[in-house]
Amino acid sequence: MQTQILERMESEVRTYSRSFPVVFTKAQNARLTDEDGREYIDFLAGAGTLNYGHNNPHIKQALLDYLSSDGIVHGLDFWTAAKRDYLETLENVILKPRGLDYKVHLPGPTGTNAVEAAIRLARVAKGRHNIVTFTNGFHGVTMGALATTGNRKFREATGGIPTQGAAFMPYDGYMGEGNDTLSYFEKLLGDNSGGLDRPAAVIVETVQGEGGINVAGLDWLKRLERICRDHDILLIIDDIQAGCGRTGKFFSFEHAGITPDIITNSKSLSAYGLPFAHVLMRPELDKWKPGQYNGTFRGFNLAFTTAAAAMRQYWSDDKFERDVQRKGRVVEDRFQKIAAWLTEQGVPASERGRGLMRGIDVGTGDVADKITAKAFENGLVIETSGQDGEVVKCLCPLTISDEDLIEGLDILEASTKQAIG
Ligand SMILES: *Cc1c(COP(=O)(O)O)cnc(C)c1O
Repeated sequence: MQTQILERMESEVRTYSRSFPVVFTKAQNARLTDEDGREYIDFLAGAGTLNYGHNNPHIKQALLDYLSSDGIVHGLDFWTAAKRDYLETLENVILKPRGLDYKVHLPGPTGTNAVEAAIRLARVAKGRHNIVTFTNGFHGVTMGALATTGNRKFREATGGIPTQGAAFMPYDGYMGEGNDTLSYFEKLLGDNSGGLDRPAAVIVETVQGEGGINVAGLDWLKRLERICRDHDILLIIDDIQAGCGRTGKFFSFEHAGITPDIITNSKSLSAYGLPFAHVLMRPELDKWKPGQYNGTFRGFNLAFTTAAAAMRQYWSDDKFERDVQRKGRVVEDRFQKIAAWLTEQGVPASERGRGLMRGIDVGTGDVADKITAKAFENGLVIETSGQDGEVVKCLCPLTISDEDLIEGLDILEASTKQAIG
């Protein structure tokens, strides 16, 4: 495989190609193929961007039909038939059946664009600057979003410019089992001398993806919603990674029965790996003035088309979400088994997650790297997350076949034994 130009020309900032240094050529659902024709099972799936698999045939057909009809591809934020169909499908297939009513802001096409827009909207709507975020949260790397991201590696990459306007609170479980972290937040809110500027909003992931598959309890999320309501603070759910079915529901917060004021989606929203993001906001929060927040790529007509096709294909009834939950249990069982085996070997490990967003905490990044490197040798693409990269995480396509899911888990289990045994 010829990799010289890739190594020579691409900036050192590259990441995933270091863990998987092969040249990929093709992919279908949960399988990747490299230039030598070797196949890999994909448990990374674009870090949660390919929930519907690589080149999903239903969605591809919609895309091809649109392209061959000379449908509008770029039109700034023109009204297009594709945009209308997207909004109609979002409303009828996703929002109405869930009793939700939101307006849609189409910012730039990445997750961090959606987070920037969401927190700025919250500030405009409330006339306050402070955004409360949580330890181990990851919300993107542009300046505003970065201020709400915990990871020091990203925060140190500003060249010393301080990130501003955010305050960190301990996430559920951060202080250890049985420690109620929201009491701290609530106490500060009620304390005139606590030092916390009155927040415009709270931004939170229901399951922290990059932060290590930390799962917020459903009662914790309900209580967070209540605290926000009691104190006139907006609740932003960053569902960029946990949304679009990853946890077994279209929106990850559905499990908790809460209603955010603002929601961000990206990653799997286009359903085809096309760059796309939106912000959903309660209608009365739409305080934007025309053109006050702009951008050249505001909504992407190809992504409108693929996103709407996926909503119709997978979300018109509850078959898909039940299947995701079933597969989630398959992964959970196997991860528990692998964690138990590691613990027996003197490497304390534990399993956690919700739906098909799952991880094994193996204690250190060193151990996790050994396992994932061995897995790659054995034909499985799988990555780590967490503050030290100590969590081996499974983000396989939700559409993965049972055969590939079992084969991937078999490879992971065997690789763990080879790496640690
Ligand atoms: C990936 C991610 C983002 C940032 O999205 P980008 O497209 O990488 O900018 C923000 N929030 C969460 C929860 C994410 O997982």
